[in-house]
Amino acid sequence: MSETMMAVRKLEKAPGLTVEEVPIPEMGVDEVLVAVEAASVCGTDLHIWKWDDWASNRIRPPLTIGHEFAGTVVDVGSAVRHVSIGDYVSAESHVTCGMCFQCRTGQAHMCPMTRILGVDRDGCFADYVSIPEKVVWRNDRNKIPPEIATLQEPFGNGVFATLAHELAGQSVAVLGCGPTGLFSIGIANASGAGSVYAADINDYRLSLATTMGADRVYNPLRQGDDVATWMIEANEGYGVDIVLEMSGAASSIDAAFRGVRNGGRVTLFGIPSTPVRIDVAESMIFKNLTVLALNGRRIFDTWYKTRWLLESGRVDLRPVITKEVSLKEVEEVMKTLAAGQAGKVILRPSIEISQPETRNGLPGVNANVEGQDLHR
Ligand SMILES: [Zn+2]
Ligand SMILES: [Zn+2]
Repeated sequence: MSETMMAVRKLEKAPGLTVEEVPIPEMGVDEVLVAVEAASVCGTDLHIWKWDDWASNRIRPPLTIGHEFAGTVVDVGSAVRHVSIGDYVSAESHVTCGMCFQCRTGQAHMCPMTRILGVDRDGCFADYVSIPEKVVWRNDRNKIPPEIATLQEPFGNGVFATLAHELAGQSVAVLGCGPTGLFSIGIANASGAGSVYAADINDYRLSLATTMGADRVYNPLRQGDDVATWMIEANEGYGVDIVLEMSGAASSIDAAFRGVRNGGRVTLFGIPSTPVRIDVAESMIFKNLTVLALNGRRIFDTWYKTRWLLESGRVDLRPVITKEVSLKEVEEVMKTLAAGQAGKVILRPSIEISQPETRNGLPGVNANVEGQDLHR
C-alpha cells in the first residue's frame, strides 16, 4: 500500500479548499482505516469552503474535510473487536464521549463533548479515513451501493426529524427543499402521509420535491401569495396537520406557525442564521400546538430506521443525487451547491471519473465507474 493519498484540505483560515497529496492517516488502537468508495457533500462542507462565521470559530486548519461516506475497511487497530478487514461500512460522523450525562442516558446525539469527522478531526474527502470502531456502521453491499450508503448519515437527519410524528393519514407540509427537506418528503410518503406539500423559493428544488413524491409544490417568490395562506386553503381552511420547517428562514418559520392547524404539530429543524421572533401567544399557545425543535440523529436508533427505509426500497434517494465527481472537482461542486443548483453530490475519491484508473493491490477499492449515470 502506498504511503500517501489524495485529500480535500482546508489549509488556511480563509475561503477555499486545496486538493493535495498527504500521508495516509494514522490509526489508533481502537480505530479502523477505511478506503473511501463514495463520499457526499453536506452544507457543513459548504460553510467550511466559504469560511463563514461558524467555520472560522470552529475549524482549526490544516484539516481534511468531509463526514459522509461509504467504503471498505482495509486495516484495524489492535484493540478493535467487532470490525474486520473487508467490512463494507459507513459511519456516524459524531464521535461522542460515552461518559457524560447525555451519553449515559441514551441521548448521545446531544453530547457536549462531540467531535465531528471532517470538522474536529480529519474527515473522509480522501482516499482513506481513520475512524473509531464505535462509530462504524456496517452496510450490506448486496442491498445498498456506496453512492446511497454514504447518504445514510444525512438521510438520518431527515428520518429523525420526520418520524418524530405519526404521519399516516396526516397532511404534511415540508418547508425548504434542500436535501433534508427532500428526504423528509420521501419518508412522509413511505409512512403513509395523506398528502405531502412542499414549498421552496427554488424551482429546481421543487422539481426534485415532486420527484420525491410531493403531491403539491409552491414557490412563494413566483406564485405570489404566502405559503401559510396556500397551506390553509389547501386544507379546507384549517391548515395542515404537521409542518416540518427545514429551511431556517425567518419567513418560513412564520409561515409554519400560521399555516399549521389548531392542535397541529410543528417541527423546527432548519437552522436560522440569526435570532428569530415568534409570537408565542398567538402562534403557539392559543393554537394548542405541539412544537419540536430537533437536531442530529439518535445514535444509533435512527440508523436502524434509516437502513430499513433504504434497503426496503421504501425511499429511493437516487433522484436527489445530482452528480458524481472526483475529488479534484470539489471547487466546482461547491460553486454549484452555493448556487442552489444541486441536491447531493457524490465524490468518488479512489477513481478519476474522467479517466478511470485501477489502484492495484488495494483491497476493497472499487475502481469501476458504474453509477456515474444517475438517472438510470
Ligand atoms: Zn452532513
Ligand atoms: Zn458524551
